[in-house]
Amino acid sequence: MKIIFASNNKNKVQEIQNQVPKSIQIVTLEEIGCTEEIAETGKTLEENAIIKANYVTEKYGLPCFADDTGLEIDALNGEPGVYSARYSGEDKNADKNMDLVLQKLGTSTNRKAQFKTVIALNINNQQHLFTGIVKGDIRNEKTGTNGFGYDPIFEPENLGKTFAEMTIDEKNKLSHRGRAVEKLIKFLSNI
Ligand code: IMP
Repeated sequence: MKIIFASNNKNKVQEIQNQVPKSIQIVTLEEIGCTEEIAETGKTLEENAIIKANYVTEKYGLPCFADDTGLEIDALNGEPGVYSARYSGEDKNADKNMDLVLQKLGTSTNRKAQFKTVIALNINNQQHLFTGIVKGDIRNEKTGTNGFGYDPIFEPENLGKTFAEMTIDEKNKLSHRGRAVEKLIKFLSNI
């Protein structure tokens, strides 16, 4: 089965390609010639995932899924949440985003946070949503060089290392996106 993944984020594409079985072939936006940036104008992760999946399905008429992810920090009332990509500005700079989180948290002892991913799948004229969540803590400083985005400051489930200190396979086994993709794979395997 061929299915479009509506993302230009090479890290996400790599994570998902690593996780799906060979029977599911992930096709990227680049491969279908979709080079435009899809505006994420939704107020929730669900809305943004749906906007991205619908854009591709309406324009190209192909089965497609899209994900939207947010880091939700308890002591910051759920920020940066749906605004995770642009938290420190329109340039979507991961280092600046992490610096802003660390600055806002300061010496706060409540470091609890979660990553949440919502996947919207359009297939056979129907839409399906899959959610994945991982709970963890925000570190006091960046650690590790793997992964992307906020990975260097997020330690999942008291594991003693950040996502940026894990291999893709280790991260996929317990991450927000890994958990949502697991549900997607299960669904696709049954149709
Ligand atoms: P989006 O889903 O591409 O809109 O991502 C929103 C923001 O969360 C971006 O700043 C991403 O870099 C960040 N992000 C998304 N997924 C992950 C992840 O798995 N780890 C760390 N940061 C992530």
